[in-house]
Amino acid sequence: MKETTEKEKKRHKSEIEKMLARHEHEIDELRANCKHKKISNWQYSMWAPEHYGPKVKICENCGLVMKTEEWNLGVENG
Ligand SMILES: [Zn+2]
Repeated sequence: MKETTEKEKKRHKSEIEKMLARHEHEIDELRANCKHKKISNWQYSMWAPEHYGPKVKICENCGLVMKTEEWNLGVENG
């Protein structure tokens, strides 16, 4: 019997949510301790799938988007 119920979908989602929550703390810690020395080249940020925002630089070690508060300053166009 193959039946994907809404309940199963919810359960599945909550598993990944739990997983992300588990790692959230580690990620926060990593970013807090990271010196952000390896910074990527400019790349498009994505505020939603397929929706590209301004170009940003991202720490290649911890994945932190650098200087998001300055998105309108010094970003390259195109
Ligand atoms: Zn970093």
